[in-house]
Amino acid sequence: MYGTSLLRGADLGRPGDLGVVFDRKDRFLAIGLIDPSSPIRLRILHQGSPAKIDDDWFRRRIRAAWEERAPLRDPSRPRTDGYRVVNGESDGLPGLVADIYAGTLVLKLYTAAWIPHLRSVVPALLDACPAQRLVLRMNRSMRRDTKHLHGLEDGRILLGAPLDGPVVFHENGLRFEADPVDGQKTGFFLDQRDNRARVGALSKGLDVLNVFSYTGGFSVYAARGGARTVTSVDISRQAIDAVERNLALNRGNPAVAACTHHGVADDAFAVLETLSRSGRRFGLVILDPPMFAQSAAQVEQALRAYARLTQLGLSVLERGGVLVQASCSNRVDADDFFRMIGEAASERGRPLRDATFTGHALDHPVRFADGAYLKCVFAKA
Ligand code: SAH
Repeated sequence: MYGTSLLRGADLGRPGDLGVVFDRKDRFLAIGLIDPSSPIRLRILHQGSPAKIDDDWFRRRIRAAWEERAPLRDPSRPRTDGYRVVNGESDGLPGLVADIYAGTLVLKLYTAAWIPHLRSVVPALLDACPAQRLVLRMNRSMRRDTKHLHGLEDGRILLGAPLDGPVVFHENGLRFEADPVDGQKTGFFLDQRDNRARVGALSKGLDVLNVFSYTGGFSVYAARGGARTVTSVDISRQAIDAVERNLALNRGNPAVAACTHHGVADDAFAVLETLSRSGRRFGLVILDPPMFAQSAAQVEQALRAYARLTQLGLSVLERGGVLVQASCSNRVDADDFFRMIGEAASERGRPLRDATFTGHALDHPVRFADGAYLKCVFAKA
């Protein structure tokens, strides 16, 4: 709840205090975590009838989230030991995310209001999810204002041995490294797992271009799927180096060993233009850019950037090839995104065919309005 939607009491409490909300007639509405320093003054934990928020309450929420991910642990499926265990508000714990990477659990907080509750949350998490190490991460706004952090800092290892580099985990049987301390998000973009698997299934015999590759999630799946060549483009040299290491981790797979990889550390728009001019064409092009719209005011501009990317992507896509384009901006509406891309493609004389639209994977449930940030289209053009 934003402070502005509270009639009284918006200035009460310290970070992490429990706040009880009543309606104008003094009837119970909800209980939430107070954060006086955030525009989101109260993060709702519970609504409906009054309840006791205690260790047991946190334990039940975390246990429910853990159980929901059981299909990912199914031993008959290719090994996946890197996934999201708690997805914030959608798992009833707003502002708290927990990702597991093999034995390393990464707890990421988006508000200092969680700090006083770590003594309940940490044992509950470790109880549900057997981990040998627990890393605490904090978002940028928390790192700026350290007064309510009770001496804790971003990257602190709360349990287990110190980290001397990335951890290695499995996703659909492939090995990847993640850097839970210095990487983006909690070290890996776990939300793209299903889309990567789909790319893997479409890559056989193709030259694949993975734009905004980060550490090469899509690249490694394409290689295993039998791509002839994979080209990964990212502005970050460290990301491109990590793609090489992730491919090396999977060289035991003959398809990965047979695939030729080219890493390009440069601006995606410039690389696409150069490739297009030089006549280079690919059978499958993936465009998975960073968030283009940080605020409502940037949505129009973001949609134009997506359209521009679509057209650049099509300019290097063989006729009849597959375009994969994603957006992770929660401000951008799925329908607007898909429409914009469709129009941009038609304008280029390459209308999209057989389009499939995908969204969130099982471990990234969405249970509130505006929670659906990830959208992706697979289409022939
Ligand atoms: N597809 C990735 C996630 C992409 S995150 C995966 O599956 O893991 C977005 C990436 O875009 C980041 O790695 C960032 O370094 C890169 N990036 C941001 N701006 C860029 C630009 N102008 N050109 C190329 N890469 C860029």
